Amino acid sequence: MVVLVTGGAGYIGSHTVVELLKSGYDVVVLDNLSNSSAESLLRVEKITGRKLEFVHADIRERRKLDELFRQYDFSAVIHFAGLKAVGESVAEPLRYYDNNVGGTITLCQAMEAAGVFRLVFSSSATVYGEPEQMPILENFTVGGVTNPYGRSKWIIEQVLEDLSCADPRWSIALLRYFNPVGAHESGMIGEDPDGVPNNLLPYITQVAVGRLQQLSVFGDDYSTKDGTGVRDYIHVCDLASGHVKALDFLENHNGAQVWNLGTGHGYSVLDMVHAFEEVSGCKVDYKIEPRRTGDIGECWSDPSKARRELGWQAQRSLHTMMADAWRWQQQNPHGYEHS
Ligand code: NAD
Ligand code: UDP
Repeated sequence: MVVLVTGGAGYIGSHTVVELLKSGYDVVVLDNLSNSSAESLLRVEKITGRKLEFVHADIRERRKLDELFRQYDFSAVIHFAGLKAVGESVAEPLRYYDNNVGGTITLCQAMEAAGVFRLVFSSSATVYGEPEQMPILENFTVGGVTNPYGRSKWIIEQVLEDLSCADPRWSIALLRYFNPVGAHESGMIGEDPDGVPNNLLPYITQVAVGRLQQLSVFGDDYSTKDGTGVRDYIHVCDLASGHVKALDFLENHNGAQVWNLGTGHGYSVLDMVHAFEEVSGCKVDYKIEPRRTGDIGECWSDPSKARRELGWQAQRSLHTMMADAWRWQQQNPHGYEHS
């Protein structure tokens, strides 16, 4: 079976392609490389000992999509392609809506025209906004999002739900990711942020490797155990295997369905700093700073729906997340382009 993976050269996409190839799927990656390097895909081939096809294109290019759908008999699409920087989305909302929402609509139009109706979509826990209760279940209210990036995910979820109501041939998985971290155990692929990282763990590893001077801890006055923000960090390889499970599920189920992909455990910023120090043996210099605008205090999942329905559960510990993130950072101190 051939699967089209949009955004497959990126962080989560490349790890998912490894899982797909290992599970026997053939893979075509479509990526415009706006936030990634094709080097990640060469490394995926080295890790798996299998070949994949790479198409350098944009999901908004309808003609190229039609050509691709004529060329291959895709059984499904896993759709990672999208822009993901929250701050940037506030400054450039049109670019975000055009790329994320517009791109998804064009992709779905091409799928429909080609008669491909199985889709796995990368959504985010951000669609829950700031829930009153933890852990977060899939039936919590969504939409209280405070930035265009988050709203683009919420809008796409609704578009896909409308599509599945209008035409029962669609089978769609809306996967709400919590906080993906870590890297493949080989240290060959991992997260390669452009410029200064926004996310916590890449920031920590770049301080440890000497690329950045000091971590700013954004707020120590949340009502959490140590006052710092709490999140549900999930190993990217566990997240990747969730996609393969969702694909399997879609083979026998129509409609649009939602799953949380998280571990069900919350860790604070200081838990993360200490766990990293323990695993790496490096001290991480940090300073408490004011809260970051738009941040919520805590966010962690109840992942039991995915366990029940997909037979999926995160396997890797916080220790493994740290060890793998650190191996990737040490082996590739400057990411893909300069390692
Ligand atoms: P990433 O930036 O590493 O990967 C996204 C990939 O999509 C990149 O390779 C980029 O070049 C490509 N891309 C972007 N726009 C494109 C377009 N118009 N046409 C073709 N390719 C395009 O990001 P990631 O962390 O791997 O995230 C993958 C998906 O998961 C994104 O949709 C993101 O919003 C979502 N997500 C990520 C996180 C996270 O914390 N990393 C959390 C929740 C959801
Ligand atoms: N965080 C921090 N310093 C940083 C980056 C993040 O203190 O340089 C905190 C942030 O306030 C949040 C947690 O780490 O409590 C996770 O942030 P991240 O940006 O990785 O994920 P998100 O906020 O999207 O859940």
